[in-house]
Amino acid sequence: MPTIRRLLVVLPPADLAGRRVVHSHHPILTAYQAASAEAAGAEVRVLDCALDGVEPALVATLAREFDAVAIHPFEYRRELPIDTTLAVIGALRGQRVAVLNVGLGAQEEGKLFDAGAEVVVHGDSERPLGDWVRGTLAPGDGVRLGGGLGTARGRRESDLSSLPFPAWHLFSPGRYRPSPHRWRRLPTFPVLGARSCPYACDFCPQSIFHSSGTFSPRTAASIAAEVEHLVSRHGARDIEFYDPTWGVQREVALELCDRLSRQSPRVTWSCLVRADLVDDTLLAAMSRAGCHGILVGVESGSEAMLRATGKKVDHAQVRATFALARRHGIDTIASFIVGLPGETPSSAQATLRLACELDATYAQFHLARDHFGRERWLSRGHTEEGWDVGGYSISGRAYVPAGMDRPALARAHRACYAGFYLRPGYIFRRVSALRDPIELRRLGAGLRMLAGAVS
Ligand code: SF4
Repeated sequence: MPTIRRLLVVLPPADLAGRRVVHSHHPILTAYQAASAEAAGAEVRVLDCALDGVEPALVATLAREFDAVAIHPFEYRRELPIDTTLAVIGALRGQRVAVLNVGLGAQEEGKLFDAGAEVVVHGDSERPLGDWVRGTLAPGDGVRLGGGLGTARGRRESDLSSLPFPAWHLFSPGRYRPSPHRWRRLPTFPVLGARSCPYACDFCPQSIFHSSGTFSPRTAASIAAEVEHLVSRHGARDIEFYDPTWGVQREVALELCDRLSRQSPRVTWSCLVRADLVDDTLLAAMSRAGCHGILVGVESGSEAMLRATGKKVDHAQVRATFALARRHGIDTIASFIVGLPGETPSSAQATLRLACELDATYAQFHLARDHFGRERWLSRGHTEEGWDVGGYSISGRAYVPAGMDRPALARAHRACYAGFYLRPGYIFRRVSALRDPIELRRLGAGLRMLAGAVS
């Protein structure tokens, strides 16, 4: 297998026409791959087709000056149909192609090889990509060469802490649009302190982009070192932790808080938590370490619907977490899903009531997407063909619960956003809290998002 001197790392387009979509999340897994390829000796360029509005045929033209192409179809919080990856591979006929971090079944793996892929890696792909660049890649542990049989188990990186930090110097990080409720200062950069999640809520797409499907933590020292690197090399002032669930390992979380609180200059940061994993002690440490916001997955105003997802968190725990966060001066983002199995207009109203009762600083309402075709979901509703790909919310095939239709769901979704954000008391509090120009900028970005959600 020849070595690779020049490698193009490609994030596929959002659709076959190459529509431009600016995502709210920085493509951190692709940045990890690019760093590994560089460390293996390749000259690397990154092409984010969605960000640049590049369609598959143009990828082939741009790839001509490279020895090989690595495609990353399932980036963190960027759920895309596999068709766009297949179209890119098809257009690249004659080029060496590796498809990374794939978490698909046998049928889809076969399609990738039929389209022309040389390598398919299931799961964590940094080290296999480095081996491919060096010309030493061998099949095994999630790595398929030239046509595989059946579904490979996702490869799990056993030592995330020793991977090179994401290669943000190969990107234009300022071109992404992180959600304004997730940053306090700019520039903001993402950090993944752990991959995947040990829980198994049945609506959650985490296993799509962390295809090993296995919780993989890093050490507190490694995470703190990456934060220091982002500050010194890229001028980061704020960190958005992308861990699907921050603080799964309590001792690591407390040690990280201690390390971050001793860094200079200090960053501000936000993270995603489960209501049952944070308490007074941990929130106090997080606040001291610069945490300005937590996103809490509340999911539904219906306790029965929440229970049915397998999330294993109840409303009492959620209420306690929001009260504690307020006491520690940490902003809260309540995250809900509209359209889960069993949803009705009245349960959607219960969701809105809970969002308001929690007095969250912000709320977000995702439309349910059927990622996995589970029996529980299909027996209580149906999936509609066609993908909805947007920059801010979870994309995928629309799921429509029995008794509702797409227009009714859209109305319920808009009503949640409007009902939460257009309360006079809420508007008064937000406007009174404006202190400096950066707050105005965040407010402007938030209003643009809101206009998109309620229009
Ligand atoms: S706890 Fe959060 S990240 Fe983990 S599976 Fe559930 S929703 Fe997904």
